[in-house]
Amino acid sequence: MKKTTVYEDREKKRAERIDRHTVACPHCGAPVLDHMTKCPHCGGELTPVGYQPLSDKKIKKIRWITYSIGAVVTVVIIVLLILYR
Ligand SMILES: [Zn+2]
Repeated sequence: MKKTTVYEDREKKRAERIDRHTVACPHCGAPVLDHMTKCPHCGGELTPVGYQPLSDKKIKKIRWITYSIGAVVTVVIIVLLILYR
């Protein structure tokens, strides 16, 4: 069995990691990373996989939850201030 150096091993792992996130460009077939929106080889539009921008509905929901928590914390602090004056 061939013994690999630490450097070779690291290089192999790096290549595997990149491989996992590489897809073929639908326009030119060149390997591109799956989160890219534009092909660096031909400039064609790509559809990134594994990444979806937050929808308006989701943003509103997150904002509502954040505001609710903020309001509850504010009320609790005010109540505590009044009670332990
Ligand atoms: Zn391309």
